[in-house]
Amino acid sequence: MPAGRVIQLRDVAKVYDNGVAAVGPLDLDVEAGEFISLVGPSGCGKSTLLRMIAGLSAPTRGVVDVARNMQGHSKHNIGFVFQEPTLMPWATVSDNVRLPLKLSHVARDQSDVRVGQALQDVGLAEFAGAYPRELSGGMKMRVSLARALVTDPDILLMDEPFAALDEITRFKLNDDLLAIWRTLRKTIVFVTHSVFESVYLSQRVLVMTSRPGRIGKEFRFDSVGARDADFRTSADYAAHCREVSAALAAASAVEGVR
Ligand code: ADP
Repeated sequence: MPAGRVIQLRDVAKVYDNGVAAVGPLDLDVEAGEFISLVGPSGCGKSTLLRMIAGLSAPTRGVVDVARNMQGHSKHNIGFVFQEPTLMPWATVSDNVRLPLKLSHVARDQSDVRVGQALQDVGLAEFAGAYPRELSGGMKMRVSLARALVTDPDILLMDEPFAALDEITRFKLNDDLLAIWRTLRKTIVFVTHSVFESVYLSQRVLVMTSRPGRIGKEFRFDSVGARDADFRTSADYAAHCREVSAALAAASAVEGVR
């Protein structure tokens, strides 16, 4: 893999055991520090693609390459955030965030520091001792994000993380995620149903075709500038959203009736 690249897929395809051709074949390159979004019709294979990058699902064809982190692990170089926060209800916020460190047998004093830092990164330092039932949906998602950040991975894979949240909470999480991305210099691959969210967040938006999902069209928005309230209401933002929506409509139409 060339220097600076953290994810490289070559000729990757997935056919499930039941014969469903879910993804590809496709190629994908992600450079260190990029924020990219995948949008596509429901069922086009976005989650499958993300799970293959994470090593949670094996491709039936092609090669998935993920850069290792400094400890030499490719597995520990990825944090995964699902749509459901999937927190342990009986454990405090701290203990939920600590879980990946506990599973890797990190010593308690070290893990205390890292859990504290991750909670601070997501703005939940004051809720370390709270239980999930005491938290709003947005706060639960922040815990889930902290749990993904606590191992300090270079890459964050996010599968429709904010889809279940109300719009105001979602906007706030979008801004906080961008701040985390900028400050911690993560590489983020973000799956979303929302064209608006993809354009707001990303430097690149990849529009996938209907199943088996391939990369239909790619948009670069890396010269857009600040992503803030002004951008959200700008003519540029509206124009970019229209372009991506049109590409998504075209991609969805490929297989005709759905
Ligand atoms: P998306 O995330 O874009 O909605 P998915 O990756 O979840 O799409 O699914 C792609 C296709 O693969 C769908 O048709 C889905 O039903 C099918 N699929 C997903 N997981 C499995 C599985 N474990 N076994 C068989 N088919 C699956």
